Amino acid sequence: IFAAVEMAPRDPILGLNEAFNADTRTTKVNLGVGVYFTDEGKIPLLGAVKAAEKARLEAAPARGYQPIEGLAAYNNAVATLLFGKDSALITNNQTLTIEALGGTGALKVGADYLKRLLPNATVYISDPSWENHRALFESAGFPVSNYAYYDAATRGVNFEGMLADLRTMPAQSIVVLHACCHNPTGADITADQWKQVVTAIKERNLIAFLDMAYQGFADGIKEDAVALDLFAASGLQFLVSSSFSKSFSLYGERVGALTIVAASKDEASRVLSQVKRVVRTNYSNPPTHGGAVVAAVLSSPELRQQWEDELAGMRVRIREMRSAIVEKLAARGVKQDFSFVLKQRGMFSYTGLTAEQVERMKTEFGVYAVSTGRICVAALNTKNIDYVADAIAAVLK
Ligand code: PMP
Repeated sequence: IFAAVEMAPRDPILGLNEAFNADTRTTKVNLGVGVYFTDEGKIPLLGAVKAAEKARLEAAPARGYQPIEGLAAYNNAVATLLFGKDSALITNNQTLTIEALGGTGALKVGADYLKRLLPNATVYISDPSWENHRALFESAGFPVSNYAYYDAATRGVNFEGMLADLRTMPAQSIVVLHACCHNPTGADITADQWKQVVTAIKERNLIAFLDMAYQGFADGIKEDAVALDLFAASGLQFLVSSSFSKSFSLYGERVGALTIVAASKDEASRVLSQVKRVVRTNYSNPPTHGGAVVAAVLSSPELRQQWEDELAGMRVRIREMRSAIVEKLAARGVKQDFSFVLKQRGMFSYTGLTAEQVERMKTEFGVYAVSTGRICVAALNTKNIDYVADAIAAVLK
C-alpha cells in the first residue's frame, strides 16, 4: 500500500536544523530556528518554571485525564493574561478558553472549528507570514490568500496596502493577524493602525483570528496586548491563539490555548460545546504538566513577578543583540543602513539578505539563516556575534 508514496518536501526550518546538526564546523551558528537562547547559547529553564515544577513534583499529583478543554485554572489565567484582570469580557463570561497543544494546536483547533462553522470562507494571512499558517489552514480545508503586509522598501508595514486588502475581502472571510512581534518580519503596526484594522474588520464583517505567540517580547505583557484591548473594546467576536513556548521557554511541553470571544455567555457556552467536539475527535484532552506549571506561575503573585522579570530579561538581551549587530556591521564597513533592525520587534529580523547571500553564509561560514533572510536575533550572543557580523559583512561585499 505504500509502494507509490512520494517523499514529502522537508519542512524548510526543521530541514535547516538537520543540516546544521550535520555540520561539523565548531564555529557554526544556527540563526534559523525561532528559539530564545541565553548568552551561553542554552535554552533557559526559567526560575519561575523550575519553582512551579518542584512544587508540583513534591505534591506528586495523580495523572488522571484532564477535561476536554483542559485545566480550568490554566484557561482562566490565559484569558486574564490576554484581556487583563478587570476585563468586562471575562466578567460577562463572553470568553471561552481551551488548553491546546502549543500555539500550533490552538490554531489547528480554531481552524477545524471555523471550517465547520463557515465551510465556504477564505482565510487571509499576511504576506509574508509564519510559514505554517498557510499549510495549517489549507489542511483544515480552506483556500488561503495573502493580504499585503511587508514593505521591503521601507522595511516596515505597507499599511495602506494592508487596509486596502482588508476593505475588499468578502464578508465572513477569516483574517489571521499577528497580535505582536510579527513573524518573520519583526515589523508591527502601531496602536493607531490597529484601530483602523479593527474598524475595517467591523465594516467588512470579517472574522479576526489573532495569533499571539510572543506576548511580552516587544514591550511587556500588557503593552503587547494593545491589539487585544482594541478588539475587546470593539464588540466584535474573534479568536485568539496563545503560545507559551517562547515566553515560558516550554517549547517541548506544547503549552498553548485557544480563546474565543462570543457575544454573550450563552453563545460562549454553545461555542465551547462545539470546540470540545473538535478536540475530542483529535486528541481527546490535553496533557497535564505544561498547563499546570503555567497556571501555577500565573496564579502565584511571587512566581508571576519572577516570570515577568525573567521575560523582561529575555526581551532586554534581544534588544542588546539588535544594537550590537547594527554597531558591528557598521564597524566592519558595511555601507547599508541596518538601523531598521533596532525598530523590529520580537525574536526575528528580516535582514534583507538575499537567498544567495544566506546560502553563502551557510557554505562559507556555517552561519545558518532562513532563505528569506530571516534571522533569529535571540540566537545571537556575545560569543558568536562577531563571527556572525564577519559572515554578514563578507557576503554583503
Ligand atoms: N504562531 C507564530 C507566529 C509562531 O511564530 C509560532 C512559533 N514559531 C507559533 C504560532 C506556534 O507556536 P508553538 O510552537 O507553541 O506551537
